[in-house]
Amino acid sequence: MIRNEDILTLLRSILHPESGENLVDLGMVENLNVSEERISLTLSFARHRDPLASSLKKNVEKVILTHYPQYQDKITIFIKEAAPKPKPQPVDREHPASNLAGVKNIIAVSSAKGGVGKSTVTANLAVALSRMNYRVGVLDADLYGPSQPTLFNLENYSPVGEQIDGEERIIPGESLGIKLMSIGFFIDASDALIWRGPMATNALRQMIRQTQWGELDFLLVDLPPGTGDIHLTLVSDLPFHGAVIISTPQKIALADVVRGIKMFRNDKINVPILGLIENMSWFTPAELPDNRYYIFGRGGARELAAREGIKLLGEIPLIQRVREASDEGRPVTSEESLAASYYEDIAGNMIHQLNKVR
Ligand code: ADP
Repeated sequence: MIRNEDILTLLRSILHPESGENLVDLGMVENLNVSEERISLTLSFARHRDPLASSLKKNVEKVILTHYPQYQDKITIFIKEAAPKPKPQPVDREHPASNLAGVKNIIAVSSAKGGVGKSTVTANLAVALSRMNYRVGVLDADLYGPSQPTLFNLENYSPVGEQIDGEERIIPGESLGIKLMSIGFFIDASDALIWRGPMATNALRQMIRQTQWGELDFLLVDLPPGTGDIHLTLVSDLPFHGAVIISTPQKIALADVVRGIKMFRNDKINVPILGLIENMSWFTPAELPDNRYYIFGRGGARELAAREGIKLLGEIPLIQRVREASDEGRPVTSEESLAASYYEDIAGNMIHQLNKVR
């Protein structure tokens, strides 16, 4: 008589191609039932329509039949899959959550890739808008590398909770007159991997719904790079009025920008794209002020913007002081400098585009 344990031992020899662990230890084998007439079991998948389902089912069957050929045509394998992910719901921009009721414009700052300067642009645009006398907040939702606390020298800030009008609220930090809430206040950067799951989504939701922004003209949201599930959560929870996309001129960075454009244009999301910002467009050495070196390529963002029918809001060169000021915790736009003028021009162009769509 064959026992359940005999079958489980066989199934331990089948490894899940993605995790490299065996099906039994992964907890994928359920309801195993072995009798003389039949073997039945359920293979449980954490994803909806898992592409590996049919090949793993075949492997299970094959392994059992190799050892116990008498079960030919007597094996039943059920596939259990997780429920499909909810589709993003269109956001009701007219009725935002109560903590966002005093925020006039919510702008997504996004990029297809990491390291293109999205966080630096967000911080400098925030300072530029603040210097134009707007009331500004920054929501740093970049789970993969929350850098706003460093950019605003608020690394040691611990947000406190408060009951306001009977509701639980979190008080943002403040630097250079800008209010800041960051996922970085809640996570230890070394734990980033753990935070990419549902816990991250919950922490983001809490920040979105509970931050006490008060009255703001602009809330800039520093999104994680790319176009994953987390973006769908964010765009379905935040009533964005517009989005800007940051890229370098490099072909490989621009290729993915199109995907970002599609995401915002998706029927369910439908956030107006205010424009593209090209960062690291060229480099001019101090000793050769008339020379421009196009290190990452030239004109790529301008062409892409024209092709996609969106505005190029500006081009920002590589400037050493931009990086230094960021590391010092005071975005360069807080100083009188040529560097500041790039961000100020972009802020002006962004407002112009926003006025067209609102
Ligand atoms: P992202 O948010 O897209 O990952 P960051 O804003 O963190 O990118 O920028 C990546 C690095 O490039 C940082 O060290 C930043 O200081 C630097 N950086 C960004 N823009 C510029 C620029 N225009 N000139 C010089 N350094 C820049």
